Amino acid sequence: MTTEYKNYIDGAFSDEAKATIDVTNPATGALLARIPDSDAAVVAKAVAAAKQAQPAWEKLPPIQRAGYLRKIAAKLRDNRTELAKIIVREQGKVQGLAQVEVDFTADYMDYMAEWARRLDGEVITSDRPGESIYVLRKPIGVVAGILPWNFPFFLIARKLAPALVTGNTIVIKPSEETPINAFEFAKLVAETDLPKGVFNLVGGLGASTGEALVSHPDVGLVTFTGSVATGSRIMQTAGKNLTRVNLELGGKAPAIVLADADLDLAAKAIYDSRVINTGQVCNCAERVYVERGAHEALVEKLTKLFSETRYGDPSEIADLHMGPLVNKAGLEKVEALVEQAKRDGAKVVIGGKRADLPQGFHYEPTLIVDARADMDIMRKEIFGPVLPIQAVENLDEAIALANDSEFGLTSSIFTSNINSAMKAVRELRFGETYINREHFEAMQGFHAGRKKSGIGGADGKHGLLEFTETHVVYLQTS
Ligand code: NAD
Repeated sequence: MTTEYKNYIDGAFSDEAKATIDVTNPATGALLARIPDSDAAVVAKAVAAAKQAQPAWEKLPPIQRAGYLRKIAAKLRDNRTELAKIIVREQGKVQGLAQVEVDFTADYMDYMAEWARRLDGEVITSDRPGESIYVLRKPIGVVAGILPWNFPFFLIARKLAPALVTGNTIVIKPSEETPINAFEFAKLVAETDLPKGVFNLVGGLGASTGEALVSHPDVGLVTFTGSVATGSRIMQTAGKNLTRVNLELGGKAPAIVLADADLDLAAKAIYDSRVINTGQVCNCAERVYVERGAHEALVEKLTKLFSETRYGDPSEIADLHMGPLVNKAGLEKVEALVEQAKRDGAKVVIGGKRADLPQGFHYEPTLIVDARADMDIMRKEIFGPVLPIQAVENLDEAIALANDSEFGLTSSIFTSNINSAMKAVRELRFGETYINREHFEAMQGFHAGRKKSGIGGADGKHGLLEFTETHVVYLQTS
């Protein structure tokens, strides 16, 4: 029998929205579950519950709020294997990575809990005798968290943990592509004694449920991860109430490889950054600029790695590098970009077509050379296992090409020369640069894009502060 999930509102699983959205396995097309399609009235109920719960939650000492995060983290660890299986089935993630995602999510909750004793304000020197000026950091109120499908479970924690530890309450809307893990998360939260209304979950589509959440006047902050188009739409909708937005959007990460680089390391790091999650990661290396002298050797090493990629249905086969793309639209987008690149004169070295598998949205791991800056494959987010490469004359050209993008999330450089690495750090216009390692951020860093890659960021101290607002106090004493 198909599982039918219910929204989690005010500490209870609510029957009000009908379970009408089908959730399927992208590797097989099999129906997995149905989730609610929540209308504006249901969303309003969830926001009201969060609003009602917030003042008491804010009054709790942060260390007590952190205690609840730790309890949830413990629940996730107790159920780590089953949770990973759910992510494999509904998102198509390979088993090892799904397990890493669950474990990392629990660690992230603990990490954010550690901030409880470190939420500091400031004391500012006054111009007046006897006066003290304090900057307090206070919660914003009700946060709306809108999630994508690519790291659906981790993104719950990335929104919820900093929101809760700073004294906000939250309403989360998972992606309609991958909501099951979020409803299972809610079941685990319900087993703890987290006060009702602090965490609420509503299922639904972006254009209806998402819009209702973003446009609700009692939401103080919308924290969103997803595409540029949706981010832009959310900003417009939130603008009507001047609601704050925190937007983690797309990327087109360049990897620069200089002739003096350790090419084995560069090839492996770029390969890993490209096939992880079947290339559906915002910080993935999406385009390579390699100095002409190293081009042939790098392509040879990458070809070998791409040719050894194991892919298939991750719910059936363990130890794969890649699963399917998340849906038909994703597969068609990747296919169209590669076909266009071929017509534009780029050359496919390996891959370049749908995978020859009986079912599922699989695309072959694909390496493309002779790419040029004017091609869509070098400008648009691919979000699939395709790596285009362009040869360049020198570092200056590589940096200029890397910066010539509407995105500015992550970047990388491979070189054995510290001067070249530091020049890249000075001149690259990206939120993150990885030097001689794969693209992947740390929870204590700050994941924040420039340009169309977003506004604000997540993780670490800077990410935490996005969930607070300042309150300045002028205390005059005699
Ligand atoms: P998406 O924009 O299609 O959907 C994301 C979420 O927004 C879903 O929950 C969807 O229902 C909701 N939504 C859609 N329209 C809405 C609206 N009008 N109002 C409110 N909510 C709405 O994105 P996706 O396809 O799920 O995710 C892939 C994208 O996410 C890629 O572009 C990727 O680069 C980006 N991403 C960025 C980061 C980052 O940290 N920068 C991380 C992961 C993914």
